[in-house]
Amino acid sequence: MYYNEEIETMSREELHRLQSERLVRIVKYTYDNVEFYRKRMDEHHVAPSDIKSVDDISKLPFMTKQDLRDYYPYGTFAAPAESIVRFHASSGTTGKPIVAGYTQNDLDCWSEGVARCLTAYGLSHKDIIQVSYGYGLFTGGLGAHDGAHRIGAATLPTSSGNTSKQIMLMKDLGSTALCCTPSYALFLAESLENDPDTDISRDIKLKVGVFGAEPWTENMRKELESKLRIKAYDIYGLTEVSGPGVGGECECQDGTHLWEDMFYPEIIDPVSLQPVPHGNRGELVFTTLLKEGMPVIRYRTRDLTYLDYSRCKCGRTMVRMGKILGRSDDMLIVRGVNVFPSTVESVIMEFPEFNGQYFITVDRVNSTDTFDVDVELRPELYNGNMSGILKLKDALTWRMVSVLGIKPAVHIAEPGSIERSMGKAKHVMDKRKF
Ligand SMILES: [Zn+2]
Repeated sequence: MYYNEEIETMSREELHRLQSERLVRIVKYTYDNVEFYRKRMDEHHVAPSDIKSVDDISKLPFMTKQDLRDYYPYGTFAAPAESIVRFHASSGTTGKPIVAGYTQNDLDCWSEGVARCLTAYGLSHKDIIQVSYGYGLFTGGLGAHDGAHRIGAATLPTSSGNTSKQIMLMKDLGSTALCCTPSYALFLAESLENDPDTDISRDIKLKVGVFGAEPWTENMRKELESKLRIKAYDIYGLTEVSGPGVGGECECQDGTHLWEDMFYPEIIDPVSLQPVPHGNRGELVFTTLLKEGMPVIRYRTRDLTYLDYSRCKCGRTMVRMGKILGRSDDMLIVRGVNVFPSTVESVIMEFPEFNGQYFITVDRVNSTDTFDVDVELRPELYNGNMSGILKLKDALTWRMVSVLGIKPAVHIAEPGSIERSMGKAKHVMDKRKF
């Protein structure tokens, strides 16, 4: 099922024409309305008239999160203040957040993106969609909420936290879909398993999970699908570009379709900043083709992935993005080796003995980096069988060595001892920064 069949299945030639027309317009619009873009383009000796199609996009300069911070709060807004109808902000842990402003058209495009995703997951006006993303400045809650309305589904806006109430409403109202971060879904699943009054197959009506806002692995998908008895789908997005629903998986679960008629993606080499050949891995860059409030031109997301332009079996022609392999920002350099927390997670999830909760600590002692990984055992295996635990610890350590190329100190933790997250999970502490 498609939400917007004409657009989702349009030929690549037609799409190229539509993207080009929109790019020409947005470049002129931002140049005319935003001093930041005008200065940046003038410095790069490129004028709006140099952009005739998307094939010219590499003539334009990049922008980064730092630019959005430097021009906080209104410096990259292109629409007049009176036409902004909503603000959101990123969850910056240090300094000023990234603030995004939306016009009504921007909210309509955003909810259309989410509606396309929800429809691709098989959801419709018949569903009850429990939105357990945080409501507020974070785009997750209201983004999923507006998309659910757009397809006529009932929303259950529980927001994040208060897990026992979430479970009660999920059971009593019969939620059929759950939108939240994968780490919160895992926590909910554990809570359901531990609830003596709940039999998941009898009491829970969920059929679909809509998970995003943090990278997650195929192993995590399997875990969530089996624990919650659902199909788990990826939804992708970021506040700087719009919010969740920049793209989503289809029923084939073979990559995340990006809604290229609204968000033009590129993959670049994060060091040389040159485009990489189709299919190669690199950093994802977006240009918003329709946004009025706060458009971005060649925004470097720091997300590392690849794009697949081959036609999907679902019939959609829109490009598919591979799983996010990590963020160039999140990459840890430990004893000179590049380590992505998502890779550590995927190694842990290869072992059915672990419950998916983990924490990485990096520090520097006597000018050498230390690299500690705490993982939790499933409760039923934490039974004082020390030789079994030691064997498992060895097996995990050596698997990490072979995949990461460096040896961590693995600690098997008591079930429930690693702090749970209600929103985006915190899996890493780099003490070298303090
Ligand atoms: Zn597809």
